[in-house]
Amino acid sequence: MTLITNHMPTAELQALDAAHHMHPFTNGDELNAKGARVITRAKGVTLTDSDGNEILDAMAGLWCVNLGYGRDELAEAAARQMKELPYYNTFFQTTHVPVIALSERLAQLAPGDLNHVFYAGSGSEANDTNIRLVRTYWAQKGKPDKNIIISRKNAYHGSSVGSASLGGMQGMHAQGGLPIPDIHHINQPNWWAEGGDMTPEEFGLARAQELEEAILELGEDRVAAFIGEPVQGAGGVIVPPETYWPEIQRICDKYGILLIADEVICGFGRTGQWFGSQTYGIRPHIMTIAKGLSSGYAPIGGSIVCDEVAEVMNACEFAHGYTYSGHPVACAVALENLRILEEEGIVDRAGSETAPYLKQKWEGLVDHPLVGEAKIAGLMGSIALTPDKATRAQFAADAGTAGLICREECFANNLVMRHVGDRMVISPPLVITKPEIDTLIDRATTALDAAHARLQDEGLM
Ligand code: PMP
Repeated sequence: MTLITNHMPTAELQALDAAHHMHPFTNGDELNAKGARVITRAKGVTLTDSDGNEILDAMAGLWCVNLGYGRDELAEAAARQMKELPYYNTFFQTTHVPVIALSERLAQLAPGDLNHVFYAGSGSEANDTNIRLVRTYWAQKGKPDKNIIISRKNAYHGSSVGSASLGGMQGMHAQGGLPIPDIHHINQPNWWAEGGDMTPEEFGLARAQELEEAILELGEDRVAAFIGEPVQGAGGVIVPPETYWPEIQRICDKYGILLIADEVICGFGRTGQWFGSQTYGIRPHIMTIAKGLSSGYAPIGGSIVCDEVAEVMNACEFAHGYTYSGHPVACAVALENLRILEEEGIVDRAGSETAPYLKQKWEGLVDHPLVGEAKIAGLMGSIALTPDKATRAQFAADAGTAGLICREECFANNLVMRHVGDRMVISPPLVITKPEIDTLIDRATTALDAAHARLQDEGLM
């Protein structure tokens, strides 16, 4: 048997990876022809690869390493818990200390009367819980026909059958027979791409009012819930116009439908406050959480539920749960992560110091000839690439061609920045410092210059 270690030559690791590892959201043949970058270690905001390159991770992994890499305290919390009680379930009249402590902590942190947590292993699982939970809630209240969940096109809520159905990604629905029944998608508040001649404010209102139109069309007695990310993340960091969420809230209140805020990305400091719902004035009945809950150090997700929903659900046996719901090691890691985020003032500093600094620098990118708009919410940002800012034009080439070129140039400049179609997005660890932000902007500018030159050379703009 080959002993596979960090010290192996990159090409050998890549060959083994190509032979036996299937990557998510990846064309395997294309990747294997190029070889995957092998990440070997990380500290703070910096990744190191098997060739010794140091890469600034402006995506915090997959929007999750809010605390930054390399915090020994989390490793120690995991080791302690593994030695004491590595696993036990919470199904059959049992519980354990880490899950009690984390639930209490989350009830304190979450706004309003969101006081009850149902755990999952990931954001996808948590949103699957939400689908069954809201439908069961209405059935318990004697309204079993209230089972339609309204979501948005270009929303991302996960990759499992249920959560990908909730999401509005056409490419995902095209594979594997999605969506499941009784999920309805309205349009997204993406002004840059779809706002036409409206002002962002008019457009935000119009897109929110599609929720009311959908409720009236489907029937108030059929609609169970609306789900939305406070800021769409994987859809391209679409920061909604200011008019959007107040109108959504008004409509949910008016028709008494449950409001689910998917805080998987926005939660735990990403938008500059603990939850995106606080930044946008949303009062959800349920929040989906994952990612920043443990800063990605352990897989854990969940649904934080308000008092009334918990009361109704507690009156029945909800036939739902995962082997790893409330996993003690993941709970211990999450607790330690929350302790550090709070005690070191990381969320507060992200909101009051880091976000304003990043905003000023990020919005400066709009002066680049390739950049149409630059949007930012706390520490998540996006820029739209365009061949013509004035008309908000799309490239003639397939959507995503320019974005991919730009991402390749970022990669070549030791910057992880992701592309969503022809938008470039960032979501760095909350601990990023001002000098590191300067480096991020310098590398992004170099990559944009190189991408611009390539697009011109290749006749794409
Ligand atoms: N909801 C949102 C808003 C997400 O961004 C994601 C992951 N990117 C998910 C749900 C799914 O989470 P997971 O990948 O942990 O299943």
